[in-house]
Amino acid sequence: MGKITGFLEYKREVEAYKPIKERVKNFKEFSIPLPESHLKNQGARCMDCGIPFCHSGCPLGNLIPDFNDKVYKGKWKEAAAILHSTNNFPEFTGRLCPAPCEEACVLGINEDPVTIENIEKNIVEQAFKNGWIVANPPEIRTGKKIAVVGSGPSGLAAAQQLNRAGHLVTVFERDDKVGGLLRYGIPDFKMEKLVIDRRVKILEKEGISFETNAHVGVNVDAVKLKKEFDAIVLCGGATVRRPIPIKGADLKGVYQAMDFLKQNNKRVAGKNDFDEVISAKGKHVIVIGGGDTGSDCIGTSNRQGAKSVTNFEILDKPTEGRPPHQPWPYWPMRLRTSSSHKEGVERFFSISTKEFIGDKNGNLTGLKTVEVEWIFKEGERPQLKELPNTEKHWNCDLVLLALGFTGAEKTIADQLGLEMDFRTNIKANTNDYRTNVSGVFTAGDMRRGQSLIVWAISEGRQAAYHVDKYLMGSSNLPLKDDNDLPRI
Ligand SMILES: Cc1cc2nc3c(=O)[nH]c(=O)nc-3n(C[C@H](O)[C@H](O)[C@H](O)COP(=O)(O)OP(=O)(O)OC[C@H]3O[C@@H](n4cnc5c(N)ncnc54)[C@H](O)[C@@H]3O)c2cc1C
Ligand code: SF4
Repeated sequence: MGKITGFLEYKREVEAYKPIKERVKNFKEFSIPLPESHLKNQGARCMDCGIPFCHSGCPLGNLIPDFNDKVYKGKWKEAAAILHSTNNFPEFTGRLCPAPCEEACVLGINEDPVTIENIEKNIVEQAFKNGWIVANPPEIRTGKKIAVVGSGPSGLAAAQQLNRAGHLVTVFERDDKVGGLLRYGIPDFKMEKLVIDRRVKILEKEGISFETNAHVGVNVDAVKLKKEFDAIVLCGGATVRRPIPIKGADLKGVYQAMDFLKQNNKRVAGKNDFDEVISAKGKHVIVIGGGDTGSDCIGTSNRQGAKSVTNFEILDKPTEGRPPHQPWPYWPMRLRTSSSHKEGVERFFSISTKEFIGDKNGNLTGLKTVEVEWIFKEGERPQLKELPNTEKHWNCDLVLLALGFTGAEKTIADQLGLEMDFRTNIKANTNDYRTNVSGVFTAGDMRRGQSLIVWAISEGRQAAYHVDKYLMGSSNLPLKDDNDLPRI
């Protein structure tokens, strides 16, 4: 532990953001890094707890007190080595993770928790700046060939781990660029895409091959892939969008959030050849869905120049603080206010959309809602009750549906005869990440349903261990919670 009295001396301090008026003019990241001396003080706040609950809060099992201590001492290179021993891509999680580790931090019981996520981001950025992150190709190749389907964080993590074990890895990605939802879901203002490109260059130098515009099950034969490769890891995400089966859902002006976000990310990357332009410019926008995707639609709409942005959430408004049934160190379902919310939106909770309304040309002009109440009874699923006389009409020209995802696509599952689970994800458990078909594994959102980047990286790493063991009989790749195994 660096400084015994650190947590008593220093207050929590995180990066400030550029003023709203300035940052909504573009799609660039907008946080202002802390000076190094301030970061060291933040590292000094860590109490190096005998039982560090932050470890169990982190799905990767990051060695948090160890790198906090190195940061306090200014040993950034050592901090970077510790961080990378459990996390392939801390530059993604350091920017985008909701930080369950911080909710589990012991200091958080009666003080503000350690700024673990921001420390993580600064360690990895120091490492890139100083040229410490370099390609590290394996010395020996096993001759085994592995296909990874999908290039989101789970696919990239699985690919890097398996390449480190000496296997020849090819990543197949149906989009034109690598990165999964990091590339074509999450907006640039949360993470600029050069952050992905910088890492992918290193993966390429390490010997991983990337095939883009390669849609397995469509223009790449899944059965042939199975024959040509010694193992397949399916990391295709949970991409089936939840629809809204109400009157008017087919009007011009009602779009799935992912179509809107993907098009915007492509536009920011310099593309402009769209069959249909989806834009919030000059429009009254209603975003339906109060999660991460909804928040990203709000930030994007404001940057595109929306006249107004309104957000509906069907669930009740959560409490500001921890709800009593989710005490420390659990992840609390409390009201989250993102930087995008602060940029301008009116939020409504306990509201359900009943109908979209259009003009005679099929263009959206408004929608109708009712207020709802959730009825909770022990042992039963919560029931939704519409409140009488609460019907309301809203004018709008653009509706973005951010209602979540229902599971994985079935194309590959049908072609390879894979079982799906009851939530329509590809079925495999966390003991070995194996599907019912020998040699086919699955990880990330495709296995667990729409989740978080940190879980995707964790699953990719864990699955890689089991693929390596399947191919070689044993594996030296690290497994979470197994600190005795050599770390690569
Ligand atoms: C809008 C949005 C914002 C989010 N924001 C955050 C956030 O701030 N923080 C956070 O932690 N999480 C966030 N998430 C969740 C997070 O992005 C996902 O949990 C994570 O990306 C899952 O990683 P993955 O590798 O399993 O799948 P994905 O990232 O979904 O990647 C799957 C990839 O597989 C490709 N693919 C699918 N099928 C095939 C096929 N048959 N052939 C070839 N390629 C295929 C897809 O094109 C895609 O590139 C967000 C999600 C969304 C939708
Ligand atoms: S729980 Fe918090 S204070 Fe304790 S070791 Fe982890 S980061 Fe440090």
